[in-house]
Amino acid sequence: MPDAHSLQTSLFFETPEEIYARVFRELKPRTALPELQVEFCRFANADSFIRLDAGPAMTTAGPAMTGAGPAMTGAGRLHVRMSDLLAGAPAAVLEALAHILLGKLYRKAVPRLYSHRYRLYLNRKDFRREAHLVRQTRGRKFISGPQGDHYNLEEVFERLSAQFFDGLMGRPRLGWSRTPSRSMLGHFDPSHNAIIISRIFDRPQVPALAVEYIMFHEMLHLRYPVDHNGARRRVHTREFREAEKKFPQLKEVKEILKRL
Ligand SMILES: [Zn+2]
Repeated sequence: MPDAHSLQTSLFFETPEEIYARVFRELKPRTALPELQVEFCRFANADSFIRLDAGPAMTTAGPAMTGAGPAMTGAGRLHVRMSDLLAGAPAAVLEALAHILLGKLYRKAVPRLYSHRYRLYLNRKDFRREAHLVRQTRGRKFISGPQGDHYNLEEVFERLSAQFFDGLMGRPRLGWSRTPSRSMLGHFDPSHNAIIISRIFDRPQVPALAVEYIMFHEMLHLRYPVDHNGARRRVHTREFREAEKKFPQLKEVKEILKRL
């Protein structure tokens, strides 16, 4: 397919700055192109950021540029920081990310083609393995330890392991969240092999049943890994859902959680 190939060559020989400039012109054809700074940073995850430092005061025109006059300045500076996990990504993936980040900045809907392409790449096995390693080695993780003011997570874990997993589940690191979060009641972090439970449960008025349910849910995440399929990522698989139904008094627990 020589045609398709020649269509793509321009894409492949672009620098990241050129990609962002091209996508910018596509999204904002009537806006002056800001100065662009695109860099790859050593983040602990695959996150990327974009920022527009607006205003002529921000321009850094050196003496060689003074002849251009003030009309040249004023477009500001666009600062893009991408995870260095993406430094080796194909240009088409960086292009997709440029659409996502610039779309976010200018509140424009991102065409599905681009969000799909980017998710597909992030979901690839080799990429996930790499991201996992980076999180493990770079991400600092605060883990409080299992003993809370009111509940001991190790006891809760062992009780559930005996009741539902024949006592055979290997114990991960266990800890309480730093703040009593209502939005994140618990999570399992595979990179640090840790279950973190919201401190909101570590109070005398919270029934043990509620703590047990959250812990059980996170233990099931250990048991049933996330299913990655194409661009899709299924956290609560059918097997997961079925296994969760084995928890007794599920209805009561859901009521307790609503009133936390
Ligand atoms: Zn879950």
